[in-house]
Amino acid sequence: MDCKTAEKQIPDFIRGEMDTRPAEQFLAHVDGCPSCKEELSIQFLVAVGLARLEEGEAFHLNRELTARLELAGRHVKIRKRLQWGLYFFQFFAVLTTIWVMAAIVF
Ligand SMILES: [Zn+2]
Repeated sequence: MDCKTAEKQIPDFIRGEMDTRPAEQFLAHVDGCPSCKEELSIQFLVAVGLARLEEGEAFHLNRELTARLELAGRHVKIRKRLQWGLYFFQFFAVLTTIWVMAAIVF
């Protein structure tokens, strides 16, 4: 993923509206790209931090952004695992269907 694509996805990431694959690529890019990480922290501050400060609550930019990135990383891992589980399930379902049909036909 290049910086242009990553920057375009920052608002989606902040809103938590990202699919597994783009989120995974986005996290990998931000992790290794200081300029996109900075852009992300600025937009995160504006979108999340200002609202929080207006409500009179404390906001720790770095801590909260790190927490958000870790959470997103965990979600990607969980969703990938679920997807694999689903593939295996479908695979066995197909296998069972073939087995049952074979048992009926032969
Ligand atoms: Zn970048």
